[in-house]
Amino acid sequence: MTALTERALDGARVLVTGGAGFVGSWLCERLLDEGAAVWCVDSFLTGSPDKVAHLRDRPDFTLVEADVSDGVPDPGGLDVVMHLACPASPVHYLRRPLETLRVGSVGTAHCLDLAERHGARFVLASTSEVYGDPLEHPQRESYWGHVNPIGPRSVYDEGKRFAEATTAAYRRERGVDTGIARIFNTFGPRMSLDDGRVVPAFVHQALLGEPLTVAGDGSQTRSLCWVEDTVDGLVRLACADEPGPVNLGNDTETTVLELARTIIGLVGSSSTIEFVPLPEDDPKVRQPDISRARERLGWRPLTDVDEGLKQTVRWMHELVGPDGAAPRA
Ligand code: NAD
Ligand code: UDP
Repeated sequence: MTALTERALDGARVLVTGGAGFVGSWLCERLLDEGAAVWCVDSFLTGSPDKVAHLRDRPDFTLVEADVSDGVPDPGGLDVVMHLACPASPVHYLRRPLETLRVGSVGTAHCLDLAERHGARFVLASTSEVYGDPLEHPQRESYWGHVNPIGPRSVYDEGKRFAEATTAAYRRERGVDTGIARIFNTFGPRMSLDDGRVVPAFVHQALLGEPLTVAGDGSQTRSLCWVEDTVDGLVRLACADEPGPVNLGNDTETTVLELARTIIGLVGSSSTIEFVPLPEDDPKVRQPDISRARERLGWRPLTDVDEGLKQTVRWMHELVGPDGAAPRA
């Protein structure tokens, strides 16, 4: 892998929105390890202070409760603003459609204003969902996507597309130094057990010995990336002079049914498989083309998916305990 930084994070002042969420908590930790001072701004809409409790005593870490759709607190002297705040699980954003649209639109503009004020680099955590139910496979950054603009998932997909458009406009019109990451399905410890995403849902069901709820016939595909790999891509993008968009994901593609069988095997569970209705507009395939991230960021995922799943199973097993009673993670 090539050298990590065109600019150094050691001593940098970085604000992370959504820092008390799943990906954000790993990102804050990595930034602190790189020597940055980190302001973690979160409304705890879908995240929790528990996810960053292990960082609380680190002197360069500050946790601030705020809804970035109302405005972003300004600690002063920022070098980088990383905007991750947004419900990311379909269960969460379908339950909170207006908040999701607001944080993608108004929230993103507030974060860009903050970056502009400080001459800071701005990184947007966008998503593979901008490709919708894709007609091109695997998905390259040049693909414009296939999104139903009024379907239930549109609050997330179009919110992120609006966020990308806003980011591109601030770059063009105001010269803000921006980078857009299109993150593909990411998994690992500290996902909320109740957020409905496929990995925590299946692992939890397998640990409880309950049927794994496979949507549709399970032939739809996803490509799962270990969280520390995704975070490494975000950090590289923060340090690079690269506007993106850049796909960040693991290009190992699997069907949801295969994933269910793998997880049952890894847990050693007696769970069966139950087929449940496919959610509306659920993408049929998803796999990143990661050539751009390889070439421009020197990035590639390093963790084998099965190894990541094993670590996730171990973490969740410890969390839920022998009786399977799961506190909110
Ligand atoms: P998450 O739900 O665990 O984290 C999102 C965080 O944002 C939460 O802590 C939540 O409380 C916070 N938040 C939401 N709205 C807010 C607001 N208005 N103001 C302040 N904080 C707010 O989700 P995640 O999986 O960690 O995703 C993080 C980011 O990465 C999201 O922007 C998501 O769209 C993007 N992403 C994630 C994945 C993935 O597979 N995890 C894939 C693609 C894109
Ligand atoms: N899925 C499933 N059972 C579940 C949760 C999800 O079969 O309990 C499917 C879902 O329909 C989708 C895939 O797994 O096809 C990935 O879903 P997830 O919510 O993790 O993320 P998405 O890629 O849809 O944003």
